[in-house]
Amino acid sequence: MTAETSPRPISLFDMKAQQALIRPEIDRRIAAILDSGAFINGPDVRELEAKLAEFAGVGHAVGVSSGTDALQIAMMAEGIGPGDAVFLPAFTYTATAEVPLVLGATPVFVDIAEDSFNIDLDDLKRRIALVKEEGRLRPRAVVGVDLFGRPADWPELEEVCRAEGMFALDDAAQAFGGALHGKRLGAWADATALSFYPTKTLGCYGDGGAILTNDAARAELYRSLRTHGEKTRYEVERTGMNGRLDTIQAAILLCKLPLLAEELKARTRIAGWYAERLARHVVVPGAQAGAESAWGLYSILLPEAGTRSRVQAAMQARGVPSAIYYPKPLHHQPAYAAAHAGGLRQAPPLPVSENVCQRILALPMHPYLDEEQVSRVAEAVIAGL
Ligand SMILES: *Cc1c(COP(=O)(O)O)cnc(C)c1O
Repeated sequence: MTAETSPRPISLFDMKAQQALIRPEIDRRIAAILDSGAFINGPDVRELEAKLAEFAGVGHAVGVSSGTDALQIAMMAEGIGPGDAVFLPAFTYTATAEVPLVLGATPVFVDIAEDSFNIDLDDLKRRIALVKEEGRLRPRAVVGVDLFGRPADWPELEEVCRAEGMFALDDAAQAFGGALHGKRLGAWADATALSFYPTKTLGCYGDGGAILTNDAARAELYRSLRTHGEKTRYEVERTGMNGRLDTIQAAILLCKLPLLAEELKARTRIAGWYAERLARHVVVPGAQAGAESAWGLYSILLPEAGTRSRVQAAMQARGVPSAIYYPKPLHHQPAYAAAHAGGLRQAPPLPVSENVCQRILALPMHPYLDEEQVSRVAEAVIAGL
């Protein structure tokens, strides 16, 4: 690089570099939909569903309107509602906790393991036992979240759910493409919710989502629930919602899906570059036996809570963006505090979730970062420590 050329700007996510690769194909597909007028449930939706199922190695994929609606439809299909306890990590995006509450169920917040940021198995078992002991709620479902793209411990989670007769739901909104023991996320759990929000590993240009499952009966229910619970047109069999995936968003995803495998490799390479440069200074995401993270986000843990604003300022001064996922554990959110207090009378504390919220920091992560940019990010982090 010569002194005159300014360095490539760094962004947290980058949808422009990817779009440049597929823009003519996107324009062609959107034009075809404008010509056909098949805006709702067009052929692109079915084509995408088949390709998503194939990519994940799962029997069925049902396109829906968002990741949040994917979670909601999956829980509605189980009849989850008042009196039901839905166990989920206290450290996740708000949608994971919002859905059980919207359905009248009670979220029971579970602590996370510091080395994975995912649900802590021992704490989960302890809280299931407490719910049974208190006897007011029925343990009904576990939502395992593959946070930042890192697979949760699905063999163990499935085992716990089987032993307790609970529904296992994978919130893989940040993790599409991730795999565990040779099986992609989507083929684990009873059902898996995906989000196609633009910044996710597979994102559209608006809102979108999908539910993956190996269970044909569940897939059929999801199709009914996303269209107002209809069995056939205007024959309403159950209470549903308007939860369909737009044809135009499906078309965009069809253009992007062929890039995903290479993009996942690029994310893995970038995570390796970060680890090489930062592992001696901060806690970087550790290796996980048998797993391939989708690297939806790349978050480091700072040595102590007090340094975060200093590090962010040092990064900003060097033109490097950063973000905090998430600044507050869900049981401290005003909207969920009452549910938390009402869920378990004797709720044990959630110290890891609380501590991690103070120390977590997300660095730029997208498949189009080069090694020089990663070096600049790492230098900026180290400068702020
Ligand atoms: C993005 C996200 C969701 C919600 O997806 P939307 O498509 O925005 O509704 C749910 N859970 C997690 C963990 C997410 O990151």
